[in-house]
Amino acid sequence: MKDENCIFCKIANGEIPSRTLYEDEDFRVIMDLAPATKGHSLILPKQHYKNLYEIADDTAAKVLPLAKKMANLMTEKLGCDGFNIIQNTNEVAGQTVFHFHMHLIPRYDSDGQNLTMKAHETPAEELDAIKQQIIK
Ligand code: 5GP
Ligand code: ZN
Repeated sequence: MKDENCIFCKIANGEIPSRTLYEDEDFRVIMDLAPATKGHSLILPKQHYKNLYEIADDTAAKVLPLAKKMANLMTEKLGCDGFNIIQNTNEVAGQTVFHFHMHLIPRYDSDGQNLTMKAHETPAEELDAIKQQIIK
């Protein structure tokens, strides 16, 4: 399924040119136009899924092995020191393009990026209550 108004559908399926690093029948991996670090790339499924909530399980199951393959390739070729993989789902999480994509972000010791999370000290009772809310 494709969405004719979706730019990532057009890129993933080759209707709009991109800097493609990898392609198979399910995915295209492209360089991000505005990279957070050197080599920042995106895994795009060729089918249109809006985000994590909607991606098909069989497609989702192939994303992490592909991320690992690309991370190994980029680490070897670019000499990065580590990696972030990030998937934003919905505006509140920073999603701006509503076609599932996984960010592949090579990290370098002195890249100046700050992708760290703000940690909140939380009482044990509160953690227990949240656990119950999720799994009850
Ligand atoms: P999001 O914020 O939705 O998680 O990430 C969208 C990403 O797509 C951003 O990092 C942005 O730079 C990138 N992006 C947006 N439009 C294009 C495009 O037309 N081509 C490429 N290669 N990257 C894009
Ligand atoms: Zn799409």
